[in-house]
Amino acid sequence: MPRYDYRCRACGSTFEISRPMIQASDPAPCPAGHDDTVKLLSTVAVTGQASAPAPRAGGGGGGCCGGGCCS
Ligand SMILES: [Zn+2]
Repeated sequence: MPRYDYRCRACGSTFEISRPMIQASDPAPCPAGHDDTVKLLSTVAVTGQASAPAPRAGGGGGGCCGGGCCS
């Protein structure tokens, strides 16, 4: 039976429910009893994409100008 992650928008807690796939889109009240919950996509990594190394914009030299190698 697949497990689904939900997040409660009322109290901000996340929780997990095992339920048949046919009930995946049914309302899932949080452990505190709130009904305002959203289903999360547990197979998608949401964080960790903002720290990818980016080339320095506007430099145009590769970063060696300033060390004296560009004379
Ligand atoms: Zn809640």
